[in-house]
Amino acid sequence: MSYAIALPELTPAPLTPGTLYLVATPIGNMEDITLRAIRTLRDCDLVAAEDTRHTGMLLKRLGLAKRQISTHKFNEAKRSAEIITLLEQGGTVSLVSDAGSPGISDPGQRVVDAVLIAGFRVEAVPGACALIAALTPSGLSTDEFHFCGFLPVKSGQRAKRLAKLLDLPGTLALYESPYRITKLLDELAELASAREVVLARELTKKFEQIQRGTAAQLLEYYREKKPKGEYVVLVSQALGSASEHASNEMD
Ligand code: SAM
Repeated sequence: MSYAIALPELTPAPLTPGTLYLVATPIGNMEDITLRAIRTLRDCDLVAAEDTRHTGMLLKRLGLAKRQISTHKFNEAKRSAEIITLLEQGGTVSLVSDAGSPGISDPGQRVVDAVLIAGFRVEAVPGACALIAALTPSGLSTDEFHFCGFLPVKSGQRAKRLAKLLDLPGTLALYESPYRITKLLDELAELASAREVVLARELTKKFEQIQRGTAAQLLEYYREKKPKGEYVVLVSQALGSASEHASNEMD
């Protein structure tokens, strides 16, 4: 797709000097960007992007030509110093990741910490986040949920961590690569066989799909089909957990 986005007139609302803005960008559907995000990207002095080529395409669609610096997990400390220098001069910086909300399983946290320690403002410009886009239509409890990002890849650490997370009350939410979805379903079939699992795939995109079932039922589906695309994995609350009792009492 190469269309430029037709922008409505943006109200002037000057950015606050010396502020780091955490700007959420689409997770698939290019219309999922707020007017405030566009205005912030337009009016800031610098865009600190996880991948400048990727963000360059977004900026192009928005008709914006901006100065960018790459800010990813391998150079966050160095970039933080550069960002703080600009904030000291009264500048404004937009921090963006490749998709969704910066800092959520994406670079951002270290820059935020450094900027706060240096005494400058940090402001979120909220928008798309795969976790929320998966959780809200899942049908699982939203009263209490625990988002734990990606599980470790190494088998020993992974099994230990998953077993611990499954003891938490409320819905468990994880990000997972398509290459490890069936591995995770196998693990869930063993550790949480009776719990409902929701796979939210390719959210906001053409082939969005939300699958619900036990881990064993979902594994059956993937016996025939190779997992493809991006996934959020949600697991219903532990049977007999305190939060399950609380929500049953409220029914
Ligand atoms: N910062 C992002 C956010 O706000 O959601 C998440 C970035 S993390 C590196 C990427 C992971 O998020 C993917 O591996 C997948 O688990 C999840 N994800 C991102 N976009 C998605 C989508 N459109 N549908 C389902 N999951 C998605």
